[in-house]
Parts: sequence; C-alpha cells; structure tokens
Amino acid sequence: MADEHIDTTVPPSGTGCVECLASGGWWLHLRRCAQCGHIGCCDNSPGQHATAHATSSGHTVIRSFEPGEDWFWDYSTQSYLDGPALTPPGHHPLTQPVPGPQGSVPRDWERHLR
Ligand SMILES: [Zn+2]
Ligand SMILES: [Zn+2]
Repeated sequence: MADEHIDTTVPPSGTGCVECLASGGWWLHLRRCAQCGHIGCCDNSPGQHATAHATSSGHTVIRSFEPGEDWFWDYSTQSYLDGPALTPPGHHPLTQPVPGPQGSVPRDWERHLR
C-alpha cells in the first residue's frame, strides 16, 4: 500500500538534494520522499539520490519537488499515483535555478545527464 509511505505532516528536508548539497554536487530536478521529507535529485541527475534514498530506506513513494508539479511516483509498483497535499513548501524556491544549485552546475551540464 502506498498510504503507509505517505506522511502528510512531515516538511521537506530543505530546498535542495541532501546528498548533492553535502558533496558539492548538482541536480536537474528534485524529488521529495513522501514518507520522511528527504529531498533528493531525479534519475536524470548525476547523483540519482532520490532513487538511492528510496532503495536504502524502503521509502517507496516520492513526490515531485518542482514548481507546478504535484505527481507522486511509487517505486514498488513503478507507477504514478494521486496523493494528498503534503506539508508546504511543495516545491523548491522559484529563485533556485534549474539545474541547481547556483554555483555548482558545470558549464557542460547537459553532457552529464543520465
Ligand atoms: Zn543529489
Ligand atoms: Zn524517506
């Protein structure tokens, strides 16, 4: 069941991918763990930290952390689902560039996408 992997009371961990910020990395798009609020980067990003978090934690449902996107993805069923409203903010700051974060994105970033 997806419901046990969604906690609407938990705020996001921050404004950027936890592991990328810790290591000086960068991301294309951000995903939010619907269970613990961990912010990780998408599968097109070099780090793929959202999927890594889901694999290591068993938290199988993520929600987009991009402005204007409210879809959820369930790794256990490999499918999108409709989920409830989560604790705000629902996306990263609009001032944050894509890819991000500012200052860490290489000039030839498109060559590094997965
Ligand atoms: Zn990352
Ligand atoms: Zn989590």
